This record gives sequence, structure tokens and C-alpha cells, in this order.
Amino acid sequence: MGWFNSVKNPKLKNVKRQGSSTPVGIWKKCNGCSEILQTDKLEQNANVCPFCDHHYRMTAESRIDLIMDEGSFEEFGQDLETQNPLEFSDKVSYDSRLTKAYNNTSKKDGTVCGVGQINGRETVIACMDFRFMGGSMGVVTGEKIALAMDEGLKRKAPVIVVSCSGGARLFIIRDYKKENGYYALD
Ligand SMILES: [Zn+2]
Repeated sequence: MGWFNSVKNPKLKNVKRQGSSTPVGIWKKCNGCSEILQTDKLEQNANVCPFCDHHYRMTAESRIDLIMDEGSFEEFGQDLETQNPLEFSDKVSYDSRLTKAYNNTSKKDGTVCGVGQINGRETVIACMDFRFMGGSMGVVTGEKIALAMDEGLKRKAPVIVVSCSGGARLFIIRDYKKENGYYALD
């Protein structure tokens, strides 16, 4: 906590802005203890509040940066893309949900796979990102995790899966179910 005490401006403690609970700029108010945090220092502390240990959500990239040796990570499978073969739609079409997820994350899927090193040891990693449809598992995520396992076997390297998911994207199509049993749509 020492680093934080040296940079914290005590006047900013419990600052409240009209219409917003978070000050603009490089400061943010902790959701756990309401202390004012410097965002770059918070990132350096692995997105954990130094006052109350509140854990903030991390992107797949920030987890990989945290875990893997600097500059060693090489992504694979990034071109795999979810399809919508049943043209599924509920309140919002599945294609629209996917487009929103693409725009939020600049990714084609919520799982990032690759190989790199941890303290010099070659390691394969598959890391989910909650920003992409709640980190839910569709066929591309399943495929990517299978790819990571295959890559680990091929390289005889350990495989780490960082599971950060709300579950599976699973829809049951009633008519299809009658004829064919359950049908899982990505
Ligand atoms: Zn806190």
C-alpha cells in the first residue's frame, strides 16, 4: 500500500460528482470502499483495490499481461468467428448481439488463446473475456480451448485456462428438439 499513500491526494477522498459516482480523468472511486484510486496505479496492482482488496474485472489482455513474461505471448486462433446458422433472434437478433460484442472488444470471440512463457517456461493459455457476451461459451470458445489443449500436447507444455464466464450460450429449439433431441446453438 506504500506506493498508494505516496500519490493519494487526501482532498479527493469521498469526492462526489453530480450525476456520476466516478470522478473523470485518471481517478476512480472504489466500488468496494469509496476511496479514490489512481487508475494507472490500480492497474499496476492487478486491478485490486489496495485499501479493501476489491477485485475489479480484468480483460483477457490484462490477465495475459499479468501472467505471461513480457513480450512472449503469441496469439493463435484469432480468426475463428461465431456463426448464426439458425438465424436465432430473441428480443435482439443474435447477429446484433455479436456485432455489439465485436465493437466492445475488437475481438471475434470472447476467448484469447496463445503461447508464451512464464518465468521462461513455455506455456499455452486460453483466457476468457467477460466483456464479450459475459464470457459465455459458444462453439468458437470450445474450439479455441480444444486448440489450446492440442497445442499443449504438441509442445508438451502446460495449458492454463482462465475461466471467466457466465456459462454457455445454449439455446433449445423446440421443434428441433422433438425430432433430434437437444440442439445447441453457439
Ligand atoms: Zn476499495
